[in-house]
Amino acid sequence: MDLRFWGVRGGIPTPEAGKLRYGGNTSCLSVELPDGTLIILDAGTGLRLLGNDLRRRHPQGGIQGHILFSHLHWDHIQGIPFFKPLFNPGNHFEFIGQRPEGTTLQAQLEGQQNYAYFPVDMGHMSSRKSFREIGEESFTLGCATITSRRLNHPGGCMGYRIQSGGASIVYATDNEHTGPGPEAAVVELARGADLLIFDTNYTPEEYSSGRQGWGHSTWEQAVVNARAAGVDRLVLFHHDQDHDDAELEVIEALAAEAFPRSVAAREGMLIRLDGQARGMEERMLIHVPEPLLHDVRNSGSACA
Ligand SMILES: [Zn+2]
Ligand SMILES: [Zn+2]
Repeated sequence: MDLRFWGVRGGIPTPEAGKLRYGGNTSCLSVELPDGTLIILDAGTGLRLLGNDLRRRHPQGGIQGHILFSHLHWDHIQGIPFFKPLFNPGNHFEFIGQRPEGTTLQAQLEGQQNYAYFPVDMGHMSSRKSFREIGEESFTLGCATITSRRLNHPGGCMGYRIQSGGASIVYATDNEHTGPGPEAAVVELARGADLLIFDTNYTPEEYSSGRQGWGHSTWEQAVVNARAAGVDRLVLFHHDQDHDDAELEVIEALAAEAFPRSVAAREGMLIRLDGQARGMEERMLIHVPEPLLHDVRNSGSACA
């Protein structure tokens, strides 16, 4: 399966020049399964870029996608009004998220496009739309089995494991790790997975100076869980809006010292997983797009 990062930032987009090597859009990933099924993880501002890519590849429509929401904080839903495939009646999107109390997932999502906030009502987005409310459970999407588990975040949050053809991805962001040891729910969800994408919003220093209870974790806590779950690779994700490229480079290097098979998520990064391949390197290919590589080289020589 192909996993692509369209938005890697937490909180709010960061269009400043010093933050674009890792990326400025908020949480959005796409997973394309071997049978063509499209799964979208969160709908932050990165969703706009995915929408443009889908329109280029499917100009006539006919897209069927499933959007899995970790939760509905702004940085996980703000791409929806700008996701152009939702305006094509030939497309169908299923919105899947936690069952809320006293309202519905559909009403919560539609609320973002209340006329006071956005001029186009979600009802005027002409694609077919369906809504599925879930708890902790397992279900299938195309050739994948999805498992959902509750995480620790204000207002609740859901982590997902996507398992298909011997390959597995775990998406566990917006989760506050508490206590010194590994976190049982995360370890259970991620056991033996190829990839664990985990919330590393804060540095350990930031976390211990007043950010407890804010619903996010650090790279150190991510490493504790990655080791305990025995994952092949850890992806640092949900970068703080105030961390620039230089700070993220330091975080990435520290995490890699502690857990060598770790990498910080970058906007545009593609990870291709082949669950049938034997060798570790054949099983997982990581590709950072050329323009980003070019930027990295340029900034390297500028510093030298
Ligand atoms: Zn978030
Ligand atoms: Zn959140």
